[in-house]
Amino acid sequence: MMRKLRPTQVVESVHEIDLAHLQSLSKRALIFDLDNTLCRRGTKTPDSDVKRYISQVQAAGFRIGILTNRRRNAEDPIVSDLREYLPVVSAARKPSREGYVQILRLMSACPEETVMIGDKRWTDIWGANRMGIHSIRVRTYPRFPSP
Ligand SMILES: [Mg+2]
Repeated sequence: MMRKLRPTQVVESVHEIDLAHLQSLSKRALIFDLDNTLCRRGTKTPDSDVKRYISQVQAAGFRIGILTNRRRNAEDPIVSDLREYLPVVSAARKPSREGYVQILRLMSACPEETVMIGDKRWTDIWGANRMGIHSIRVRTYPRFPSP
């Protein structure tokens, strides 16, 4: 596999992310992809399980942002809902650097302390790699509640 598409880590779903390990690597900020990472692709309605998961991760001490290629003009309730309490960059055109720069600025985070979590090599992982951001590829969206 091409180096640029190789994630730093691979996990089954967000439930398997080892937050303590990331803290030991001095990671403080997590950028999440939305579709097939935090929820099933195309989910439009706000999801209380996703919200609960996000607050758990925040309680562990991480800043969180959402970076999605969903189009702004198709903004749906789940995106507007997340936007109320998190930095969200939509229509991000991953793997373009621009969206990453934007979300890092909104999160007041630098690449070295940040982790990108997403399901797609050609967008999430490639984009993170070219920014020098630790990347975690999830194989699937989470089934809540956590196992
Ligand atoms: Mg995705």
